[in-house]
Amino acid sequence: MKVIVVGSSHGGFETVRGILAEKPDTEIQWYEKGDFVSFLSCGMQLYLEGVVKDVNSVRYATAKGMRAKGVNVFVHQEVTSIDPKAHTVVVHNLDDDSTREEKYDKLVLSAGAVPASIPVPGNDLANIYAMRGRDWAIKLKAKTVDPDVQNVTVIGAGYIGIEAAEVFSKAGKHVTLIDILPRPLALYLDQEFTDVLSKTLTDHNIYLATGQTVKEFNGENGKVQSVKTDQAEYPSDLVVETAGIKPNTSWLKDTLDLNNKGLVKVNDHLETSQPDIYAVGDSTKVPFAPTGKKLQIALATNARRQGRIAAKNLLGHDMKMPAVSGSSALSVFDYHFASTGIKEGTSEANGVKSQSVFVTDTTQPPFVPDEAGNEEVYFKLTFDPENHRILGAQIMSKRDVTANMNAISLAIQGSMTLDDLAYADFFFQPGFDRPWNVINVAAQKALQDLS
Ligand code: FAD
Repeated sequence: MKVIVVGSSHGGFETVRGILAEKPDTEIQWYEKGDFVSFLSCGMQLYLEGVVKDVNSVRYATAKGMRAKGVNVFVHQEVTSIDPKAHTVVVHNLDDDSTREEKYDKLVLSAGAVPASIPVPGNDLANIYAMRGRDWAIKLKAKTVDPDVQNVTVIGAGYIGIEAAEVFSKAGKHVTLIDILPRPLALYLDQEFTDVLSKTLTDHNIYLATGQTVKEFNGENGKVQSVKTDQAEYPSDLVVETAGIKPNTSWLKDTLDLNNKGLVKVNDHLETSQPDIYAVGDSTKVPFAPTGKKLQIALATNARRQGRIAAKNLLGHDMKMPAVSGSSALSVFDYHFASTGIKEGTSEANGVKSQSVFVTDTTQPPFVPDEAGNEEVYFKLTFDPENHRILGAQIMSKRDVTANMNAISLAIQGSMTLDDLAYADFFFQPGFDRPWNVINVAAQKALQDLS
């Protein structure tokens, strides 16, 4: 059997890995249109802040290493079209501008997404950057040490924008963070958390221009000099646009069923509308556990799960993509937060009636001194007030307690209720936590509130 895999990031890598794990003698052709295999944007902040020194190490695999495992790796070669009837693809070799046809038995697409550009006047000026992929990582790194760059404007206060703002703040730049929503990280955290984080961002020389819409970029000699919103104009030597992504699928519109946002429609087995063609990663939707509906959740975790499941299915297994909850975590200077599922702020958009309970606690019993790492912890649990089903949660502390979110993710996936969590068994040791885990505390309080 010959399998063609398109895209060398999370979804493509995991598909290849999954096939190799089970049937290493499968003929695999792996295509990447960029000139680098398997760059991980997830590791970009660590590189930009100098924690990871070599940009080329921010990857899962090398072409050489994968070739040694028998994979035919093609770099700087773009798959430009598919003939589903003939089971062929057209490959454009970007090095010598030649094209050729390749046959497949099974085809897996992990074409991913590209950063969206804000459609306003001046968006073609120089020094308007994105934050995704190795090329942008190298360009951004140069700007962190460029003395001509003093004012950096980041557009989009989601988790990538927060990473960009933190990088440039730590590099000593004055940062303005613009978002159309009234709070940073508004899709990940409710206000109890973002109030604390907003203060932290401001304390680190990041000006929050939230609740503002970008109207235009102004510049001279072809270079950006300011960003104008509906409320103010911000001097900008560099702009980093992190306001959303666009699926890399325009080349597929006449071949596969896409939705109105260009996402490839897949069933639970990750099959597209054409036989023997699977799609995974950021250009698809995933089943969302709290509602059972499909949702676009662009995360490496989802892409990797999908890649593994596509590999299983094309090898003849019958495996469905499990529902996920969009669990993610991030550090914002001294704070670490994680969230999963539905928040109070996203409940209406998901068509769900929810109620939440917010608790603050300390990570350890009161007798443990602060110097021993006893920190305040903020936790919010969101549930269905009718049947008590757990829908989501958020946690934040200066101590890393983010792993609690994985327990909530499992609770959502397993349709557990407040009643299950109120007395669930979690360990206690004063060096780590309290006799009642903050999840127990919140579920017990929620049940009391409801009674
Ligand atoms: P992509 O990563 O978009 O890659 C698609 C690849 O396919 C590209 O290399 C592209 O060049 C190639 N390609 C596209 N079309 C073709 C074609 N026709 N022929 C050949 N090659 C093609 N997620 C997390 O879970 N945790 C994190 O901490 C996290 N941090 C992130 C930080 C940043 C700064 C960014 C930008 C994203 C982060 N993500 C994180 C999200 C994660 O990176 C994406 O969800 C993931 O990369 C999606 O993988 P993918 O395989 O769908 O596609």
